[in-house]
Amino acid sequence: MDILVAEPHGMCSGVARALEIAQRTLTEYPGEPLWCFHELVHNEHIVSDLQARGVHFVDAIEVIPEGARVLFSAHGVSPEVHQAAAARHLEIVDATCPFVAKVHAEARRFAAEALPIALIGHKGHDEVVGILGEAPTQMTVIETQADVEQLRQTLSASALVVLSQTTVSEAMYEARVAELKAAGFEVIFPKALDICYATRERQQAVRELAQQVDCVLVLGSRNSSNSKRLVEVAKSAGCDAALIATPEELETLDLRTVKRLGLTSGASTPESLLDQLRSRLSARASQE
Ligand code: SF4
Repeated sequence: MDILVAEPHGMCSGVARALEIAQRTLTEYPGEPLWCFHELVHNEHIVSDLQARGVHFVDAIEVIPEGARVLFSAHGVSPEVHQAAAARHLEIVDATCPFVAKVHAEARRFAAEALPIALIGHKGHDEVVGILGEAPTQMTVIETQADVEQLRQTLSASALVVLSQTTVSEAMYEARVAELKAAGFEVIFPKALDICYATRERQQAVRELAQQVDCVLVLGSRNSSNSKRLVEVAKSAGCDAALIATPEELETLDLRTVKRLGLTSGASTPESLLDQLRSRLSARASQE
């Protein structure tokens, strides 16, 4: 079996930065408890490694002891979470990716101009929840065409700002924008696209890879939005594709008919995991 790897793939600058911030904090304050609100990045391997180094992961600020040190994840948090942390006198170490922070800043700016905002993204994702918190009464999360139709029925304004989650697929973004325009909204965009460079480059690379192989394996956690999008992009390019969370999951797949296999990994997947996956594939090939 030939193996082709998408370029670029794997860890992005925002995840590497969040990891570096966490590691620096652990080194600067050895032995002191460090709490993290939500998963620092959506990768089980990284989270369990940090847990082993003493980081406590929580989903509520209220359970963190007063005055403790808390990491905010790469996905960012809402102003409400900042206020809750301040009320408990927590020392905040903010690992929000600058590309996510940019969307927060846009949401604040457009909200101050009293404009309604559509946020194209996946409902309930940590990043979307955080951005939505900037202007909950002015912003609507748009995930599906039905959301566009519902917004048209409930919003009388004609001008509408369109922001997006940084990791949505370009196809989904373009489809929702086209539907918003077709629904009669005069759409206003921020100066630069909100889908980050890492998402766009990895989606483009997997789109090209999908033309050359029989099947694409995406290595990434099941709650990783950008990894799930890579599977969708490969499938929409007409290729078989699957998400695997660990190299061990390779053993659950039947790849006997695959002659050319494509590999890629999500923006929060460590390169060492992809190396392990390649080693397993080589070991399999030598046994056949
Ligand atoms: S995927 Fe993009 S927005 Fe998310 S952490 Fe990486 S660079 Fe930042």
